[in-house]
Amino acid sequence: MMNKVPLDGIAGKVVLITGASSGIGEATALLLAQHQAIVVLGARRTERLEQLVADITAAGGTAYCRKLDVTDAADMDDFVQYAQHTCGRVDVMVNNAGVMPLSNLAEHKIDEWNRMIDVNIRGVLHGIVSALPIMQHQQSGQFINIASVGAYEVTPTAAVYCATKYAVRAISDGLRMETESHIRVTLVSPGVTESELADSISDEHSRAFMREYRRIALPATAIGEAILYAIQQPAHVDVNELIVRPAKGNS
Ligand code: NDP
Repeated sequence: MMNKVPLDGIAGKVVLITGASSGIGEATALLLAQHQAIVVLGARRTERLEQLVADITAAGGTAYCRKLDVTDAADMDDFVQYAQHTCGRVDVMVNNAGVMPLSNLAEHKIDEWNRMIDVNIRGVLHGIVSALPIMQHQQSGQFINIASVGAYEVTPTAAVYCATKYAVRAISDGLRMETESHIRVTLVSPGVTESELADSISDEHSRAFMREYRRIALPATAIGEAILYAIQQPAHVDVNELIVRPAKGNS
């Protein structure tokens, strides 16, 4: 089954969002649904996703959700297949899920490094390989990979986090070069944004630093607007990279 969809714009496009249970993913889902996109939401906290689907539906939008652990390639495949079977297409894959347990390297938090590598890098790769064949078959599609200002500069305590985001930037560039022009690849790099991201920091020194650092945080809808902009461009326009950070400061 393949539904008809306008080539440009947002209305009717099927947009998959990983990590949609809070923060940027949740705000993006609400915004895109307001613009008549059909959103398919994935994350591990299904009760949050179900509430979001209910809110979008009550407001007249269309949304579906499915439990998703992006670190599991087979689970990602099932998520993308669920979207394809339910909605008939996959127009946009927003690889947004991420974690950021910051600490100095000397703290030796190997499990946290591995979790960042698994979610932030492998999760994005899994999203790409699961959605790419469908987009190639459709002869259209768009990946929106969420990196960070940390994909451009490294800060203390964030060596591994930044490394994962540099990787997302490299993977996005490589994907753009390897795919045909009917597949668009956009990297969206937020600066400090209101979300639950800092909750994953176990190191007390890094938590205290982050509380101060995040005072000027952007609302998550600011990143949703950047994603909306990239999707709304005509099919022959590929917005490669967007960095969106608070006007005040450099974070
Ligand atoms: P949140 O912590 O609010 O959201 C992160 C999302 O990722 C949650 O929905 C969480 O859902 C999901 N997630 C985490 N692990 C997994 C997993 N294994 N499988 C599926 N989903 C997972 O933070 P943000 O909204 O800020 O983060 C979104 C993206 O933005 C991340 O990639 C982050 O690195 C990036 N970013 C954020 C910035 C900020 O200042 N907020 C700045 C720069 C980049 P669940 O736990 O339910 O699975």
